[in-house]
Amino acid sequence: MVKKRKLSEIRKKISNNEATVLTVQELVDQLKDGENVQFEDVDVVTTATKGLMSGIAGIFSFRLTIPKDVRKFVEITLNGINSFPGPCPNEYLGVVDLILYGTGHSATIEGYSGGMLFRDLVEGKNIEVVAKSIEGKIIRREMTLHDMQFARLIGTRQGIKNYYAMINPTIEPINTIFSVLPFEPNNSQITFSGCGALNPFQNDPNFEIFGIGMPVLVNGNIGHLIGPGTRNYVLKPNMMTIADFKGMKPEYMGSFKTSYGSEPICSIAAPIPILNENIFHNIIKSDLDVPLTVLNIVGREKLGEITYGDVWDDNFLVQFDSTKCTKCDECKIEKYCPTSCFTPQNGIDKSRCFNCGTCVAKCPEEAFKCDLKSIKIQGKKVPIILRQSDRFGAIKLANELKLKILKGEFILEKPTGKLEFAKEVK
Ligand code: SF4
Ligand code: SF4
Repeated sequence: MVKKRKLSEIRKKISNNEATVLTVQELVDQLKDGENVQFEDVDVVTTATKGLMSGIAGIFSFRLTIPKDVRKFVEITLNGINSFPGPCPNEYLGVVDLILYGTGHSATIEGYSGGMLFRDLVEGKNIEVVAKSIEGKIIRREMTLHDMQFARLIGTRQGIKNYYAMINPTIEPINTIFSVLPFEPNNSQITFSGCGALNPFQNDPNFEIFGIGMPVLVNGNIGHLIGPGTRNYVLKPNMMTIADFKGMKPEYMGSFKTSYGSEPICSIAAPIPILNENIFHNIIKSDLDVPLTVLNIVGREKLGEITYGDVWDDNFLVQFDSTKCTKCDECKIEKYCPTSCFTPQNGIDKSRCFNCGTCVAKCPEEAFKCDLKSIKIQGKKVPIILRQSDRFGAIKLANELKLKILKGEFILEKPTGKLEFAKEVK
């Protein structure tokens, strides 16, 4: 007979300080150490992912003028990034509603993007709002997140069930969002995305736990899963979420420069109450159990199949050894670090570092430490030069969720509806 427990029993154990909550990483590590962890030993596991999520946007509402001053606003920029005023016109109210894409770029600040704006707001920084009314009146205002009556992050496509590794078999370097520098040809480099064993959907393959209305952590704040995201597919599910910017943590957000533009960074953590043995058996026990397909960057045909165990193995953190740094005339890492978090003088700003490995691959003096690994593809050993998911950051977020659950700050709730994913790709 399949062993079961009710959500109410788990919640009671949590309030009596008797529950065992583990991050998937802790479970993976315990099993690796030879511990015999069973259904009885764990009540909840926490999953997480931190990666580049282009499908995010901010929905904002704030006052710009007194009522009746203008009819409505038709153009609004935030730090030079174009937004979409509306959908509500808010006629004669002096208040604007707007949507701004995380992938938006500033026309006034070089290299500045929506992902950076979202982080700046969460950090409490002043931003500049420029708005034009339908009558042609221009209003300029400085404001902070605190001045906004409404500020939510909506994800249209997040937390994809892991992703792919990419390789360039052509004879030309290619600028792509899958590489920080031009992606070198002739199968000479690999990049990959996905947090492997820690990924939320990877641990709930039959959608028994995740559902509409379920609370999740978005960038460290409690938000909600609101449904399947765009381009969803039952074998590659993803989620839509909504969460208040107020209460998010900057370290889980930001922007990542690639050779084909900036991509926003976003982080999601989701709990899995272990309601029965089947759910426990579906929790990933090793990265070796999670497939990772290697695709041709051009055309996306499959060129190989490996596992996340080939790319993630206690190699999550990138560290800088200042004693090896020779303070080159032009530091390549200061120039190319995709989150601009490094200077030879100050080292790595850990609140911005994505642990991507670019510095490990690029520093001529090997001043950065991390085993990025290499993969055998078509008989050739190919070095990994970039991780486009921050497993270290995801582990941290999964741990934050664990602590919130144990402290009673995050209440496990049943979803209000099931997630239905497309059965085929159209
Ligand atoms: S490239 Fe490496 S060795 Fe040179 S300044 Fe930068 S970190 Fe130091
Ligand atoms: S791992 Fe290196 S290159 Fe990547 S974000 Fe951190 S310091 Fe920058």
